[in-house]
Amino acid sequence: MLILTFILIHWYASLFFQTVFLHRYAAHSMFKMSRFWEKAFFIGTWISQGSSYLNPFAYAYMHRLHHMHAENEKDPHSPDHSYNIFSFMLKTYHYYASVKNRDIVIEEGLCKRIPRWHKFEKISESWLSRLIWVSIYILIYIAFAPNIYFFLLLPVHFFMSPIHGAIINWFSHKVGYQNFEQNNNSTNLFPIEIFLGGEALHNNHHAQPWKANFAKRWFEFDPSYLIMRIMHALKIITIHKNALK
Ligand SMILES: [Zn+2]
Ligand SMILES: [Zn+2]
Repeated sequence: MLILTFILIHWYASLFFQTVFLHRYAAHSMFKMSRFWEKAFFIGTWISQGSSYLNPFAYAYMHRLHHMHAENEKDPHSPDHSYNIFSFMLKTYHYYASVKNRDIVIEEGLCKRIPRWHKFEKISESWLSRLIWVSIYILIYIAFAPNIYFFLLLPVHFFMSPIHGAIINWFSHKVGYQNFEQNNNSTNLFPIEIFLGGEALHNNHHAQPWKANFAKRWFEFDPSYLIMRIMHALKIITIHKNALK
């Protein structure tokens, strides 16, 4: 039971920082916050994503490219250009690494307002940090797993962020329904989206990428938007007016 609780906490904490900090803040600038809270989000992203920590700059840059070029050859992760979900994940990883290491030409126009904390980024994305997190997950399983078969779940912890990314970027461009006809294949994954923090209301998001609330129809629900409204009321963040419209 403790292991299942650990998986749930890890799943949702990682998802929360991915959707609110990396996606809605770093990539889309839907809200502003003080440098103190920005640093708190950097640290929260590192703790929650752990061994699969994603660099906010590389994430935001790739995501902006995805919105600009969805489904064409410049899209860094269109399912249309991969044979299966594993080659898709590998291709996305290589592109991510090339952005992070600046092995490709970076379009400066796409880098505006992406939060940086260079010293912290060096630590959080180091192999030493990733190995320490992997060791922590293994030690938790040694201490609390009821039997050896539970260890088969460890890769979910090791690769939490790529798993979330693959579910959204593969399945939300392949299956599900569309509220908005667009020049891309994005879809909404109701009711699975509830387990994905609203991220899988992807067709809605592609149609209106500036809007903080990804839900559009009466039966759709974006839990991350609800949390953002609470943080907004508590003055932790300030959601921009056009993101609320
Ligand atoms: Zn998309
Ligand atoms: Zn987006």
